[in-house]
Amino acid sequence: MDSQRTLRRQVSCAGIGLHSGNKVTLTLKPAPANSGIWFRRADLGGLEIRASVGHVAGIHYATGLARTEGSVETVEHLLAALVGLGVDNLVVELNHPEVPIMDGSAAPFVYLIQEAGIRPLGAPKQFLRVTRPIELARGDKRIALYPCDHFKVTYSISFDHPLLRHQARTVSVSEDTFIEQIAPARTFGFLKEVEMLRQHGLALGGSLENAVVIGETGVLNNPLRFDDEFVRHKILDAMGDLSLIGYPVVGHLVAHRAGHALHTAFAAKLLETRDAWELVEQPVTVPAGVPAAAPVSSAIAGR
Ligand SMILES: [Zn+2]
Repeated sequence: MDSQRTLRRQVSCAGIGLHSGNKVTLTLKPAPANSGIWFRRADLGGLEIRASVGHVAGIHYATGLARTEGSVETVEHLLAALVGLGVDNLVVELNHPEVPIMDGSAAPFVYLIQEAGIRPLGAPKQFLRVTRPIELARGDKRIALYPCDHFKVTYSISFDHPLLRHQARTVSVSEDTFIEQIAPARTFGFLKEVEMLRQHGLALGGSLENAVVIGETGVLNNPLRFDDEFVRHKILDAMGDLSLIGYPVVGHLVAHRAGHALHTAFAAKLLETRDAWELVEQPVTVPAGVPAAAPVSSAIAGR
């Protein structure tokens, strides 16, 4: 049995909001078992918004969560770090509507979580194990989950740009592979898109410090952290968005040309499709008749 986790102690960092350009302080606070991940707006009298599919709003260039009284924006990289490091219960306090963009990746949040340390709680972690394929497609964009004995992501992207025609990657996600291969991948954008966003009062905090910017002839801020940093970042975004279902997933996520809108719509469809998954306390089911170094109880449960 895996235990639910929170942080060992409270920890803070400061940065700027990608879209507003305003300074923001983020504080991660330990929370009890079975409470989940909550955002708290200290500047709005402590308004709390649960990180859940039901609160998704504003999904064009980042994922936002809202209640009528207020919202939190650009939550996906922090949520990816939390699910990647197996943190189930936490209060994320902000003094501003936007999670700071930091360097555009999840690596600064990984350092912050590691600095605080992880504390196991005395309650079993529940995993959402996919039992049959489930898919969502919009035009040529698609996303699907297939049964698999662990969490694995295959992502492919293609753009009409000489630098970024096609990239694909498959990662079997563990804490180590997340930290090494996915968390450091930065968000990216096209120079002409940045200009358009700014005209609409967005990306005001965007700079070469927090995003990979692709111009007509090349990347403006080389070197890249990985040759295929772009598709790795899409895996990061998908993990953060999918975490809004509230459980770590056991299954193979396959996405092609998807984005926040499709990721979050798929997360909602997954939760609604109750015959496509089951909640389990042991991520791996031992196939009948196969001797394995697993606890007796889980071997029996697999028959
Ligand atoms: Zn992103």
